[in-house]
Amino acid sequence: MKHFIVGPVELYPFTKEIYKNDYLYFRTEEFGTMVKDCLKRANQLIGNNVENSLIYLTASGTAAMEASVENCMNKNDKALVINGGTFGHRFCELLEYHNIPFNSINLNWNEQLKYSHLEQFENKGYTALFVNLHETSTGQLYDIKLLSDFCKRNNMFLIVDAISTFLADEYKMQEWGIDVTIISSQKGFCLSPGLSFVSFSQKMIDKINKNDFRGSMYFDFKDYFKNITRGQTPYTPAVFIMYELKAMLDYIDSIGGKSVLLNQVKEKCLHFRKLAKENGLKIPDSYSLSNMITPVICENVKAGELVKHLRDKYKLCVNPCGGDMADKMFRVSHIGNTSIDDIDDLVEKLQLAIERVKNKEALCK
Ligand SMILES: *Cc1c(COP(=O)(O)O)cnc(C)c1O
Repeated sequence: MKHFIVGPVELYPFTKEIYKNDYLYFRTEEFGTMVKDCLKRANQLIGNNVENSLIYLTASGTAAMEASVENCMNKNDKALVINGGTFGHRFCELLEYHNIPFNSINLNWNEQLKYSHLEQFENKGYTALFVNLHETSTGQLYDIKLLSDFCKRNNMFLIVDAISTFLADEYKMQEWGIDVTIISSQKGFCLSPGLSFVSFSQKMIDKINKNDFRGSMYFDFKDYFKNITRGQTPYTPAVFIMYELKAMLDYIDSIGGKSVLLNQVKEKCLHFRKLAKENGLKIPDSYSLSNMITPVICENVKAGELVKHLRDKYKLCVNPCGGDMADKMFRVSHIGNTSIDDIDDLVEKLQLAIERVKNKEALCK
């Protein structure tokens, strides 16, 4: 099976290799030193050089979203959420669950976020903005400058789920005035699922340390801050994914750094979009797209059937869409260990699959 999904993505051979090697007991100074070094390098890729400001959790990305809501907010806060799809909706659910007052800006799936959406929320006492910078369910990459300027003007914390934009698009946490960055191992980092990462501004670390209430025990960030100065975590981490991360960081260094990796993703992205257009496939043009995935709109064929057919018949796995969009659109990811040749093959098989599914649907009518 070849995976063109956002995650878990096709792993690189060097991350699989680590499972053959020896490993250290995690409560040792050597393991702690390795973790500290990895987190420092990862934080550089995020664009944050505040010391000891990156922690990691053994849990998927949603846990990091929830832990951020619990630890960074309290009942005196008033949050604003950009809700442009499944993941924006998830922030709304989490804030509601934890009783944090909030409002949301709800977008239609094909509607670009603009200043006109934010305008009515200026000077209304909001304290934090939550956004999934790339709303993976639609492929929209929001305008970070628009959001960052809005937060600065209104003295708001900017909390960014960067899970599906980090290491696919440019990301500069400090330069963009971001207070919290949430990342997950199985997306841009191209590692096994199981680790998530949260990076903080000094201002947010101070706020959390002053927070005397505890949303949950396992995810109490104050414990993570204390432990991370020694490269440790309060509880047993997914040790092997940390080794995978080290291998990935070494790989990124070996190819010439983050910009080279971003270019590889961009090249695959542009290649797919060019071929897709040449083959008459329709890509949304009413909003800005991330380089991580390309949504494809299906007009004459059911997208859900197509996704299933590609998987069953050709062993090619692309991302279906959920809910109302399940039969209207599917998505192709450009991250992970896939090549230009793989994309050529995918587009070829996609054409065959469209014809077959169309014929099958015609027969059923
Ligand atoms: C994948 C993803 C998540 C995390 O989902 P998990 O299944 O919990 O790892 C969160 N936000 C966005 C934008 C994502 O793409």
